[in-house]
Amino acid sequence: MPIDATLPYDDGNIFARILRGEIPSKTVYEDEHALAFHDINPQAPTHILVIPKGAYVSWDDFSARAADAEIAGFVRAVGHVARAAGLVAPGYRLLANTGGDAHQEVPHLHVHIFAGRRLGPMLTAA
Ligand code: AMP
Repeated sequence: MPIDATLPYDDGNIFARILRGEIPSKTVYEDEHALAFHDINPQAPTHILVIPKGAYVSWDDFSARAADAEIAGFVRAVGHVARAAGLVAPGYRLLANTGGDAHQEVPHLHVHIFAGRRLGPMLTAA
């Protein structure tokens, strides 16, 4: 179910629970600012999610409230994960769904990394 990205942060969301270690994930990378893990329902041969460690609902929330160091750390982590996975030469796509029309389902900012095949046009029909 798509979420309302203007709502306050919900500490019980599934990615908050992964960050607290209450739910397992297939971790790809972790540092001070970010955690990366494999998506449970991959939409491409490589489908990794990167999330900030701070409590941010969405890209909107993160870009408005996060400290510069958190933003820099998170952006560098996304780049590092893709580079370390060998995705730069073949290519990859980033996606950060924000709110209902974008079909954001988990109310903790996550950037999808898709790769491993020709990804086709930018958007498909709903
Ligand atoms: P979005 O629609 O952008 O909010 O994407 C949410 C993503 O989270 C989907 O691709 C789900 O497959 C993924 N997801 C949901 N629960 C988990 C989980 N426990 N571990 C890994 N990925 C998950």
